[in-house]
Formats: sequence, C-alpha cells, structure tokens
Amino acid sequence: MPQPAQYRGMALVIPDNDSEWIEYFQHARQHRLVMRACPACGLMRYPPSPACPWCMGLEWTWREVSGRGTIHSYEVVAHAIQPGFKDATPYVVVLVDLDEQRAVPTPDESLRIIGNLVRPDGSMESEREVAIGRRVRVMFQDVVDHLALPQFTLTDEPPVGRVWRLPE
Ligand SMILES: [Zn+2]
Repeated sequence: MPQPAQYRGMALVIPDNDSEWIEYFQHARQHRLVMRACPACGLMRYPPSPACPWCMGLEWTWREVSGRGTIHSYEVVAHAIQPGFKDATPYVVVLVDLDEQRAVPTPDESLRIIGNLVRPDGSMESEREVAIGRRVRVMFQDVVDHLALPQFTLTDEPPVGRVWRLPE
C-alpha cells in the first residue's frame, strides 16, 4: 500500500482503480511527462482519457514529451478555494500548448496541459511574470515515492506568437 500523499497540507488521493492517473503520476515521479498516444491516428491527448477524442479509437500507448511549450492562456487565482493554497495567493495557473502537437489537428487545437506557474525552486511565480505567448518547461514537484506533480516554469526562450497579458 503506497504511503498517503500530502500536498500543501491536503490529501492527494488517486483511487486504486484509476489506472490512467496512477500511471501518469508514476511516470511523473520518474520525471517523465507522458501523454496517451493513439495508434490509429497518431495524435496524443490530455487528460489521459480511455478514448481518442479525435478518432474515437480505444487503443493507446504512453508517449514521452519534452515538457516544453507556450502559454496558451492563464488565470490568476486571488481567492483560493482549497485551504492549502491560501498562503500562495495570488498565484498563476497556466494552460500550456505543448510543442509536440501545437496547432494540430487544426490551427485552433493543440495538446494542452494545465499546471501552476512556479519558480525553479518550486515556489509560486509572480503574477507579474506571466503572459500568453511566453515559453515554459515542465518541472516536477516530488510529493511521495510514487507521485510527483508536473508544474511549469518560465524559460528565457523568445515568446511565440502574440504576447499578451492582463493590463494592470
Ligand atoms: Zn485517434
């Protein structure tokens, strides 16, 4: 029985029969970001759903991705719903277009993943730093032996596309 996971003072529970998320977080603990890939159409998907959203195929394999991408959208959380995040406000949640499947299968679609925007030391990044179009890379916050959380941190790479942030 794996040890119970605590994150920011809250229990992180993944049910034993939730094989999709258990395997996803086990890969993350090895510091690998993996997506489900469809053998029929070749496209990856997130979250790791049982069926392919593009062709409805039910087959899949895990495929590792680089974890590099561009901020597609973001939000600043001013009032935390979860008590464990109260001390972290305001903090930034980012929606990231991963490089491997940007603007695929249509110009408006991409392989997108959500996470907190953090500094390399794992603390929350300042809301002043975030902008749509800025580049990020995945980093992993180890929680327990069998589980790590993929998060994102800014890189120095030039932004992609239109850069935009909420006016102050
Ligand atoms: Zn498919």
